[in-house]
Amino acid sequence: MIPLRLPALAESDRAFVTRLRSQPQAPGDPSESYLIEESAEGGTFAGPRGIIAIDGVPAEQLDGDVILVRPQALPGNSGSIERLLRAHRPEGGIAHNTLLVTERCDQLCLMCSQPPKKTHVDRFAYLEEACLLAEPGSLIGITGGEPTLYKEQVFGLLERVLSVRPDLEFHVLTNGQHFASEDVPRLRGPLYRRVSWGIPLYAPEPALHEEIVGKSGAFARLEESFVHLLAARARIELRTVLLSSNLPILGDLSRFVATRLRFIEAWSIMQLEHTGYARNRWKDLFVDHRTQFDTIADALNHTAVHGVRAQLFNFPRCTVPDEYRELAVASISDWKRKYAQACDGCRERTKCCGFFEWHPDDETMKMVTPL
Ligand code: SF4
Repeated sequence: MIPLRLPALAESDRAFVTRLRSQPQAPGDPSESYLIEESAEGGTFAGPRGIIAIDGVPAEQLDGDVILVRPQALPGNSGSIERLLRAHRPEGGIAHNTLLVTERCDQLCLMCSQPPKKTHVDRFAYLEEACLLAEPGSLIGITGGEPTLYKEQVFGLLERVLSVRPDLEFHVLTNGQHFASEDVPRLRGPLYRRVSWGIPLYAPEPALHEEIVGKSGAFARLEESFVHLLAARARIELRTVLLSSNLPILGDLSRFVATRLRFIEAWSIMQLEHTGYARNRWKDLFVDHRTQFDTIADALNHTAVHGVRAQLFNFPRCTVPDEYRELAVASISDWKRKYAQACDGCRERTKCCGFFEWHPDDETMKMVTPL
């Protein structure tokens, strides 16, 4: 796994955001810190807030990263940096990073990969500063917890950043419980053409959806949000995590999507992550799609016939039948992705999501058949 947090010592007595450079690109740029010394396992950078000595990865791998520095002088901190926006760009792709804006959430999904916390640490000012320093043409993900619990701060961040960075796009993961009619004029604005909203829907009816998200009334509130988002002509990526409880109704869900939610940009059917709450419930929740792909295929066929674009997230390509393989996209970020040893010789590896770093190794070995 590529580490996003690294131990570091810094001269400053306050937290700050800076972009690391191995070579000055615009000498004197106050937002950048330049490499002055490197070792096999780290580097020392100098910038307007003083020296930062980072351990844990070679300095060349940090080149271009936008980091949040938490100096050791801060109470309760031993000194660290967080790589908010990694400069790494996948071959032929665009730089994609995700910023966590809160760990609070008002749902409690039974397979949540990042179980919520009650407390909120407000980092919006730092995150906005980081977005302004993003690599040209980046797609920045916003996630939580539930970002729209802080809707005004999220909207404000998006609008301020997008108004001065016409090259950037955002993708916001949200449970869709907080959009209101008064948001419509704002979301209709031209800046929001560069924002897409990733919204989960697990069933075409309240009982099962609400059992999965752990919140009574969530289905009706989600439908209300869809009305507002439709009125705003918002860009929506619908997301459905595949579970043993919703596999039997996936066909009904595909009909619901194709008739009631035709305005979405894409429907992502997602395989379960072996982490968070799902880890201890794996046997009850996990669907081995290799043996039950017919149901998924029916759903994919139905949406395709109705002109709704569907895609498969977290499905290793060799586990998907040939005719649906192109829908299985490289959905897992590089910092948390791994492959089985057998994948080394696979011709599809660059297009394949592989596995989450936390997926059990014995399972990965059993699943792969190099193409
Ligand atoms: S063998 Fe590995 S790289 Fe190839 S498709 Fe399967 S999981 Fe992906």
